Amino acid sequence: MKVFKFGGASVKDAAGVRNVASVLEHFLSDDLLIVVSAMGKTTNALEEVVWAYADGKDTGPMVARLKTSHAKVLNEVAPGDDGAIEALIASFKELDRALGQRPSGRVDQDYDQIVSLGEVWSTLIVSAHLRSTGLANTWLDARTIVRTDASHRAARVEWQACQNLADRYVKPLLMDRPARVLTQGFIGRTADGRTTTLGREGSDFSAAIFAYLLDAESVTIWKDVPGMFNADPKRFPDTELLPHISYREAIELSYFGASVIHPRTLQPLLKKHIPLFVRSFVDLNAPGSTIDDRSENDPLIPSFIVKPEQLLISITPRDLSFIVEENLSGIFWLFAQRNVRIDLMQNSAVAFSVVVDDTLRSRELIEELRKGYEVRYNDGCELITVRHFDEATLAKLTAGREVLIEQRSRSTARFVVQ
Ligand code: ASP
Ligand code: MG
Repeated sequence: MKVFKFGGASVKDAAGVRNVASVLEHFLSDDLLIVVSAMGKTTNALEEVVWAYADGKDTGPMVARLKTSHAKVLNEVAPGDDGAIEALIASFKELDRALGQRPSGRVDQDYDQIVSLGEVWSTLIVSAHLRSTGLANTWLDARTIVRTDASHRAARVEWQACQNLADRYVKPLLMDRPARVLTQGFIGRTADGRTTTLGREGSDFSAAIFAYLLDAESVTIWKDVPGMFNADPKRFPDTELLPHISYREAIELSYFGASVIHPRTLQPLLKKHIPLFVRSFVDLNAPGSTIDDRSENDPLIPSFIVKPEQLLISITPRDLSFIVEENLSGIFWLFAQRNVRIDLMQNSAVAFSVVVDDTLRSRELIEELRKGYEVRYNDGCELITVRHFDEATLAKLTAGREVLIEQRSRSTARFVVQ
């Protein structure tokens, strides 16, 4: 069997949902498990609902917009499907119920109960549309399979429990010929029944989880771009498609911030040697990119990844004592506790410098650090990573910029520029 994943951009409106069906028409004899994200910008909109709810503000108009837009798409792609309409309304009621209660005081837990509904709605709609076009399918609640711990918004998968659940509940569904199971990305559930999420953009990871549990022959991520490129085509004019790269290279690229696949996606695939295809849902004839075990064909052309809006923070002990293990462990602890990911670090005798995304959490962390250290920062920085660099590429990328930090290893060069 194969696992397919369709992201939010692929199901952003009725035309997108119809296009999913036309992609699937090309795979009528394949056994498929299809993972779908929330439609378009639904997850962002649901996050706004959560923040308003947590602040005790009125969520009515925002919720009404979400209900209307989903009901409208359902009505367009599966008119007259009373079962689907009822299921959608029941899920809207679940949202109303959640919002009718007082916030639990644990924002991340409330977030997961509310934001997870975006994937429930999109899969109800896609499932109904597929049915209406003759593509029989089973709607599976991913939460019954993806067992996680209770780290809300960044839940960790409990693999053995998932395996038992998949063996028991998904494998029988795959006995149909051809099998077509439709489920949600991004969401899971704790042993005591609370919904969790795997982190933003987590649906790729969900696809990998299902592929691992079901020993899939491959995973295909259907995207609005024709594959993985050596740089973001939206930012650079002369990008090249990477037709074939190894897991290792793809992990490096996604770790440094390439946004094509979620960084955690590749580890489960690598363990079972399951290849990952990135293909265009717009152009089915485009070859796309293949990511697998074989590293012989790894591209040696430079790949570059730019992370904008970075903060370069320098932390110095007030008495100018050396940066040693004791203060580093205290500093790291603060970053871990506040869930601020360090993208790059460097130290001198008396200063420890890090680069992080410029977010509210990072700004709050700076205030926290100031209680014990002297802290300076530069905002508006860019972090540029170049894999397989050559001097000409580096010169071009940094021309006219002030380079604040430069780090090189054999295959990777990184710059913090302003
Ligand atoms: N809907 C979730 C998000 O937008 C998960 C995903 O799209 O992968 O982050
Ligand atoms: Mg998405």
